[in-house]
Amino acid sequence: MVFLREISTIGIVGAGQMGNGIAQVAAQAGYQVIVQDVFPEALNKGHANIEKNLLKGVQLGKIPSETVKAILGRLMFTLNISELADADFIIESATEDPELKAELFRRLDQETAPDVIITTNTSSQSVTRLAGLTKRPGLVAGMHFFNPVHIMKLVEIIDALETTPETLQIITDIAKKMGKETVIIKDMPGFATSRISAMLGNEAFYMLMDGLGTPEDIDKALKLGLNLPMGPLELGDLVGLDTRLKVLENMQQNLGERFRPCPLMRKYVEAGRYGKKVGKGVYDYPDK
Ligand code: NAD
Repeated sequence: MVFLREISTIGIVGAGQMGNGIAQVAAQAGYQVIVQDVFPEALNKGHANIEKNLLKGVQLGKIPSETVKAILGRLMFTLNISELADADFIIESATEDPELKAELFRRLDQETAPDVIITTNTSSQSVTRLAGLTKRPGLVAGMHFFNPVHIMKLVEIIDALETTPETLQIITDIAKKMGKETVIIKDMPGFATSRISAMLGNEAFYMLMDGLGTPEDIDKALKLGLNLPMGPLELGDLVGLDTRLKVLENMQQNLGERFRPCPLMRKYVEAGRYGKKVGKGVYDYPDK
């Protein structure tokens, strides 16, 4: 039996739209947070986004203004992955690329103490494979957040082949402390949520390619007709079409041809139209 450490500092790898959102909710929950990325501009953008979200929370009366300084004071940003040696718990949320994540897991296994739990926010990749690259597979699991992290209620916890019940319990407790609801789902490509979301978004892209209607009308039809909170094309822009394409490619490889990415989505990604985060996807976002 491994005695797991008390968790006061959370290390987050990747300061993108998910990484900075996770950093915000972790700091709001009272954890010290170290956010690491390889690009200074990603760290700057992540930091600015957290500040903007907190100030909006104050304006909406959801966050007491006197707490903002303390929340921001719990965040530290770094380009150096070795600084994660001070973390008691890791959430990896870098780009959805299998080789990049494999390399990161090997590195995180070296940089962190052997009793530290390492989780991944991957949307679709095998957590069991990432766990197998470490010397602590029992302490590896998925911790799948949703976008925007400070608003979405769910954390889907992914139970990989070797994940121990203690690890799942600790992750559940941390997610609850962040104010989230949890579910525990077995490790299969796309888990429960991405599997459906990617398929819906892909099919909406095929409709767009087939000329069924304008993006606005396709989204409106599905939103109002199926009572969805937002249209699947709009959601794809929010997720990031680059991420969505990677998810679909992984699911096509592992679950079959029904997940073949729509060629039009591939073209959008080739053109750099990744969605809201870059100001242009299916729709335009001029203020981004
Ligand atoms: P993003 O493109 O906004 O951010 C990815 C970040 O990773 C970038 O800042 C990039 O600089 C950084 N990065 C790249 N290589 C790195 C490295 N070697 N070390 C540290 N940082 C590195 O993407 P995102 O939407 O934040 O997605 C991140 C992860 O979260 C992916 O695995 C994705 O599948 C998952 N996810 C995304 C969503 C969503 O809706 N976007 C939802 C749930 C989970």
